[in-house]
Amino acid sequence: MEEDNVLAGAIDIGGTSIKYGVLDNHGKVLTKSKTPTDVKGGGPAILNQVKDLVRALQADHELSGIAVSTAGQINRKEGTVIYATDSLPNYTGLNIKEILESEFGVPVTVDNDVNCAAVGEYWKGAAKQVDQFLCMTLGTGIGGAIVINGEIYDGAAYSAGEFGHMNLYPGGEPCTCGDEGCYERYASSKALSKRARSVIEDYNSLPNLFWRAKNEDKLAESVINRWVDDVALGIKTLVHIFNPPMIVIGGGVSEQGDYLLGKLEQRVNNRIMSSFERSLSIKLAQNGNDANLQGAVYQLLKYMK
Ligand SMILES: [Zn+2]
Repeated sequence: MEEDNVLAGAIDIGGTSIKYGVLDNHGKVLTKSKTPTDVKGGGPAILNQVKDLVRALQADHELSGIAVSTAGQINRKEGTVIYATDSLPNYTGLNIKEILESEFGVPVTVDNDVNCAAVGEYWKGAAKQVDQFLCMTLGTGIGGAIVINGEIYDGAAYSAGEFGHMNLYPGGEPCTCGDEGCYERYASSKALSKRARSVIEDYNSLPNLFWRAKNEDKLAESVINRWVDDVALGIKTLVHIFNPPMIVIGGGVSEQGDYLLGKLEQRVNNRIMSSFERSLSIKLAQNGNDANLQGAVYQLLKYMK
């Protein structure tokens, strides 16, 4: 796995920014930076941005390959975008792998960002000790990845792990998928900030909401408790289906550490059958923003092996 002298250009394409850097074959981040995604220009413009970034990285480093993590559903065998929402217009259908390989003449791998976060945590973070686990990221929506024996479970169409569209409250809030009452409408971090804004007059940010709750603001704490109840409800279903030894929770809220973890563990354990409780460990992602870059490089190294 960890061949010597491999330097990888790593690119993480999101709906707001593109993070990029150079990592070595041990997952060490040698340099990293970010730039706003050219969402207005859409898919082709974004790929031109990526080419410019790779050229800039190449100026200082001899890259053996390029590892791409990106939003959207990705056929990671072909390196194509199967589907991307309007947050990345004209992105669907692009063959990122082919375009970058013909431009730079080095191996390129492309994978979905939640998959990359998951294998990043497997390689260097919270899931180092286990071979199978679920990874769930709480953000604008809820993403998921299923890791079995250190490999992503793809499903029939590279789309497995859409935990965000489990049905939590049938007939509830409309969802981007066309249905109503999906998990991510209630348990994403976006849902938490929406709920907080509706009941706390001077709400300004999630970190501030957690800060208030930790400092005994009862209203802030009740908003968080209600949200954690919903997060736990989805985890309950996943635990009973998969019986995973570990669930890793990622996304910005994972910065809230033991305060969040304690609440979550308590509520999940209250709901699941006791036989599942003994074998389950819930962890918060450890690698934050680097997990996507590291996971992308992990996939590249495996591909180059
Ligand atoms: Zn949905």
